[in-house]
Amino acid sequence: MAFENIIGNEKMKELLNTSVANNNIVHSYLFIGPDGVGKSLFATEFAKMILCEANSGKPCENCKSCIQFSGGNHPDFLKIEPEDEKKIKIEQIRYLQEKIAEKPVTSSKKVYIICDSETMTREASNGLLKTLEEPPEYAVIILLTSNESALLNTIKSRCMKMNFLPISENQIMQYLRANGLGENMTENMLKLCEGSIGKALKVENEKEQYLQVEELIKKISKQDITQIWRQADVLYQAKENIVPLLEYMIIIFYQLLKKQNKMCYEKAIQIIEQTKKRIQANANYDMSIDNLLLRLWEELV
Ligand SMILES: [Zn+2]
Repeated sequence: MAFENIIGNEKMKELLNTSVANNNIVHSYLFIGPDGVGKSLFATEFAKMILCEANSGKPCENCKSCIQFSGGNHPDFLKIEPEDEKKIKIEQIRYLQEKIAEKPVTSSKKVYIICDSETMTREASNGLLKTLEEPPEYAVIILLTSNESALLNTIKSRCMKMNFLPISENQIMQYLRANGLGENMTENMLKLCEGSIGKALKVENEKEQYLQVEELIKKISKQDITQIWRQADVLYQAKENIVPLLEYMIIIFYQLLKKQNKMCYEKAIQIIEQTKKRIQANANYDMSIDNLLLRLWEELV
């Protein structure tokens, strides 16, 4: 079975496996789903399966194709990613068109992956559309996106849509443990990951901050406001990284609200939401945090 090293989206694994086994591969796919759920890993493994000469249902790792693929120099494979200004430009699509016109060298097909395809400029989108309208018979193009609505309808209508789901909290935990991580990862932190392995790794890296926020919230109802302000360095120092910490506070209060339906938790969530908006609108940072803590303290004591 291929895709065995990828977490989650089991149905998708079955679907892609079956399409390779039955040689039922279409010219263009659109992989849709949030960032960090494995779209790129899936697409890469799928490409390797399609290109493998052994045709055994999973990459054989022994044929010329698999060896070239693993070495990063397969002549029939190309991955396009946003470049300067985080855009995919017409020059990149022109290069794809040039390459796709040449017959495959090693394999019987050629596979192209376009990451973050919603970042294509209008010119690039229109260029790609021409290729999607009349692809060479050996071509497979896989577009990845976390924002389907930003793609041209004419592009979407030519692709087979595949929806990727967020990874479950259990599977995220399993993944972290398998990689020697996840110690002290709380239930609240798992909620913050929103089903994304990418986010989970980020949360893992910044765990200390989240633990401090959790500690601070526990103290709010028990201490004087001046003491609370003094112990809130984690918030005062976060500055441009404050948003995930505020979102984390919202998760904490939301979980409390689920356990005990108290008005003060609902108010706390509103206060944090307002602070987030205020900071995003460039209000004075320290004053916003002072005010946030004061208002939470008034609600919770
Ligand atoms: Zn192979």
